[in-house]
Amino acid sequence: MPLLSAKIAQKAIGDHAPPGRLVCMVDLSSAFASNAGPANPDMPEGEFRQFGKTVIDWIAAYLDDPRRYPVRAIGQPGDLRRRLPPAAPVEGEPMEQILRDFDQLIMPMVTHWNHPRSFAYFSISSSAPGILAETLIAALDVNAMLWKSCPAATELEQTTVAWVLDWLGLPSAWFGMIVDSASNAVLQAVVAARQRAEPESRAVGPSRRLVAYVSEHTHSSVEKAAMAAGIGRSNIRHIAADTRFSMSAAALAEAIRSDITAGLKPFFVAATVGTTSSTAIDPVGDISETCSANGLWLHVDGAYGGTFGVLPECRHFLDGVERADSFVVNPHKLMMVPLDCSLFFTAAPEMVRAAFALEVEYLKTDVHGAIDYMDYGLALGRRFRALKLWFVMRYFGREGLVAILRRSMAMAAWLGERISGDARFDLAAPVNMGLVCFRSRHGNEATKGLMNRINDGGVFFVSHTVLAGKFTIRVAIGNIRTEWQDVERLWDAISKQ
Ligand code: PLP
Repeated sequence: MPLLSAKIAQKAIGDHAPPGRLVCMVDLSSAFASNAGPANPDMPEGEFRQFGKTVIDWIAAYLDDPRRYPVRAIGQPGDLRRRLPPAAPVEGEPMEQILRDFDQLIMPMVTHWNHPRSFAYFSISSSAPGILAETLIAALDVNAMLWKSCPAATELEQTTVAWVLDWLGLPSAWFGMIVDSASNAVLQAVVAARQRAEPESRAVGPSRRLVAYVSEHTHSSVEKAAMAAGIGRSNIRHIAADTRFSMSAAALAEAIRSDITAGLKPFFVAATVGTTSSTAIDPVGDISETCSANGLWLHVDGAYGGTFGVLPECRHFLDGVERADSFVVNPHKLMMVPLDCSLFFTAAPEMVRAAFALEVEYLKTDVHGAIDYMDYGLALGRRFRALKLWFVMRYFGREGLVAILRRSMAMAAWLGERISGDARFDLAAPVNMGLVCFRSRHGNEATKGLMNRINDGGVFFVSHTVLAGKFTIRVAIGNIRTEWQDVERLWDAISKQ
């Protein structure tokens, strides 16, 4: 690579710099030339308006009739890569061509999560107001790392997380922030808990004595977070669950006692409101008593189930959560907010800050009395996620969200009744939220075969888990565009197999 020419280098560093001193490793002479290109190399405004309309029209049509797409991509690994060039273009390409390729190459390999017949994993919804907000977020492209780096982003974040606490009836004094995922939220919780248990861990790392507790149904993200925080897997206990898949508070208390007797240092428990496999609810109140008696940090994972706290008839799901040290709920699961938007709450923000804040010169600020969210987690760069949460909460309002959730729950309950009334099937878990877990009475292979047949045509997408040692089909109902006919058609597909 040619070095900066001596003449330009001299110009760049000014008269005070000694001639010949190395300033830059790149030859910028062409950039100074008058024909170096337009002042603004971005897409011209007229073109942006034209394609902006095209894209919004495309989205409107997609949202209006997503059923014309098979919900699950039907292809083989490598199908798309074979059709894409191995290297990025050297010269820019026209937008028409990019959009054409999006339709012809990308769309056939898309699995449509934002689809009324997407019942796999946990269904999610990117609602229209959320999509509009995402567009504005991209346009502003702010970084909410410091209050100073975008006051609106920080203060809207403080406001919207407080609104969610209010909707869920949780302590208004809690500190809240928006992160990308429940996985990162629990990492923050584990590191803060480690900080409280071993303040010296910030300087020298954790001892080998710290022990964390999850149930056999806790989401894998908790165990991953503990591993990442230096808690070896051998110090992560999997507490047995009862017949309804809820963590046994008695078994937890016994495990903690036994670890203390063995000279270990129990420090962290994760309880779940709405487990991934079956939407079971752990006895948070009882668990919290054991935690406070023994000084353990209690994290409650409400990534999926937490949102149901907005329904008066389901608010008891969150009983005891007010005693937690931290709590996570994912508006990108059931609050109609597009991925990614996960809320991390804590009653001990000073511990989170003590674990994560690190002063560096280039991020110092002269602003006092404001939150700098970068001090409370791993990420420095933080998207303006509060904007989409704000749009969605305002557009639907509490009552709108309540109506959507009630409809999903009613559909799940209806499907659960059909299944439990059919002698060929067993419900594998109570239907208490939007998830229906069931299996064929003919065993694992029959259940697996049934799932494959349901999914084969691409009309529906359901997923699986294992409950009580048996292969189980999961039907998660919760997409904003799911209608009764979608669930009725699914029941037809199940019952006609
Ligand atoms: N906790 C529960 C109960 C989940 O079901 C999931 C994902 O489905 C997670 C945590 C992880 O969420 P995220 O994808 O936001 O990390």
